[in-house]
Amino acid sequence: LTRQEEYYVIILGLDNAGKTTLLERIKAMYTGVRGLSPDKIGPTVGLNIGKIDIERSRLKLWDLGGQRDLHSIWERYYPEAHGIIFVIDATDRARLDECQKTFEKIMMRDEVEGVPVLMLANKQDLPAAMAVEEIKETFNKIASGLGARDSKAMPVSALAGDGVRDAVEWLYTRLQ
Ligand code: GDP
Repeated sequence: LTRQEEYYVIILGLDNAGKTTLLERIKAMYTGVRGLSPDKIGPTVGLNIGKIDIERSRLKLWDLGGQRDLHSIWERYYPEAHGIIFVIDATDRARLDECQKTFEKIMMRDEVEGVPVLMLANKQDLPAAMAVEEIKETFNKIASGLGARDSKAMPVSALAGDGVRDAVEWLYTRLQ
């Protein structure tokens, strides 16, 4: 495990998007394979940490709280981030605008310039979920402003696990 590359990934999104569920799902998938016992920090601290090994790399995933008063805390983590996962509740049309504005704010930060961004249209197991194409369309105006940044939108169900492995793998290849 010496000379192992270490990467930090921050998981952002509105509250109720499914960030914690996603992190738990990723931990279960990857630590199951590697037999690692995951770090766990209680909800009182306000953030959850997951540590997974892929090939010769170690990914540290930080699930930062989604409540509005926690957004300022996100900023402290931007300088550390090698990758960003932005989770969207695809069933929540009512908050899509708020979601987009939140995303835009993150993308405008200098600290995350050039950092690969993976946008996840979560809760695809529910019939009310918007398809990833629809979400992409809504975010297109911003996406075109991403510059040279690597970004992708993918459909997942954090709850069922569908698409989660593909999502982690996409991001992993971008971290190299
Ligand atoms: P967070 O606030 O972003 O951390 O969101 P949570 O992970 O706490 O999830 C909020 C709610 O959405 C919980 O009731 C989860 O069970 C639910 N949830 C999260 N992901 C999914 C999903 O993929 N499908 C469904 N049906 N529910 C989900």
